[in-house]
Amino acid sequence: MNLHEFQAKELLFKNDVQIQKGYMVSNLDKVEKVANKLSSETGTEFFVVKAQIHAGGRGKGGGVKVAKSLTELKDYSSSILGMMLKTPQTPKEGKLVSKILIAEDVYYPGESENQEFYISLLLNRSTSKIMIMYSTEGGVDIESVAEKTPNLIFYEEVDPSLGLMPNQARKVAFNLGLHGTAYKNMIKFISSLYLAYVNCDASLLEINPVLKTSDNKIIAVDAKMVLDDNSLFRHKEYKDLRDESEENPVETQARAVGLNYVDLDGNIGCMVNGAGLAMATMDLIKQSGGEPANFLDVGGTADADRVEVAFNLILQDPRVKAVLVNIFGGIVRCDRVANGIVQAYKNIKDKIKVPIIVRLEGTNAEEAKDIIDNSGLKIFSASSFFNVTEIIKEVLS
Ligand code: GDP
Ligand code: MN
Repeated sequence: MNLHEFQAKELLFKNDVQIQKGYMVSNLDKVEKVANKLSSETGTEFFVVKAQIHAGGRGKGGGVKVAKSLTELKDYSSSILGMMLKTPQTPKEGKLVSKILIAEDVYYPGESENQEFYISLLLNRSTSKIMIMYSTEGGVDIESVAEKTPNLIFYEEVDPSLGLMPNQARKVAFNLGLHGTAYKNMIKFISSLYLAYVNCDASLLEINPVLKTSDNKIIAVDAKMVLDDNSLFRHKEYKDLRDESEENPVETQARAVGLNYVDLDGNIGCMVNGAGLAMATMDLIKQSGGEPANFLDVGGTADADRVEVAFNLILQDPRVKAVLVNIFGGIVRCDRVANGIVQAYKNIKDKIKVPIIVRLEGTNAEEAKDIIDNSGLKIFSASSFFNVTEIIKEVLS
């Protein structure tokens, strides 16, 4: 689950990470009140207005503006709130900005000793460790740093059973070229950041930029945080953080009925039971010259209702040229699944404009094939993987 910057910063603040202080606003009437509050809390006279959308690169697209007076703040707020913000990470038409973050300006204008760093934490699945990636080149997009000057990116792997060791925190601060108070503050910053990552069950935490101010404070100016969906049951409070207007609507519908659906870019929709078989099926589609349009695990109960919902989800994607149903009948019998498919097909017949390929293997597979073949519906029943490949090739040719 992706978070907005203001939500990520709230979680960071609760975990003792120094942040640029600010408040989210979705209504222009609140701008002045928030500005006064920020001024009395931090003494700031300058503010920054930041569009809150689930995409980075907002600064370049005009979604981040520094205001040097209340009048400027109101102007920028009214131009950013409600705009269609286009960045390299949004769809072509941009994304509607319905929330802004108004924050204190932490850059102390006129001072040239501000320094911007990059720090991110993520799970390295191949080593089962938490990787801290950091660089002196913050504020710019890290992909281009990785491409042009990979030597300026450092990596530190943390064993989660030990936690971040003091020498590792010191190494980060040292490699960023810090000394004195800034060095000490960076050690505290990185230690709190690590704990925030662990405590929040994040799968990604990226701070770009981390700012060193001229008076040696270390502050998170931006925050991108992705929470691990598998941990949501442990954090009931996260329910309110989900912003469905930012999510893929088909994925939202699937979640509502307990289906595991991930939208992909391809042309063959697939409906499978079990994540392992789903992966194998996606490989099979690729080998047959297609590209999977989605990942969809219908789980153990492939009954008519779930199959119908699943068909509906898949068929919403205009890129889908065929749907492949590949179900292994272990606990669930194939004939029951076949009946479910036939029933679901009949219920939504008008919506089905593409070929449906069904492969049912396992308990009562023969009966299942008969049910499909005798249904009088336009369903290709495939008896083997080879058969599936042939049919997909034919559909795509
Ligand atoms: P992004 O473009 O979506 O990554 O948004 P960021 O939050 O990283 O902001 C973009 C840039 O705006 C940062 O790299 C900073 O250089 C600048 N910026 C952010 N906050 C402030 C601020 O308080 N004062 C000033 N002067 N610049 C800021
Ligand atoms: Mn940023």
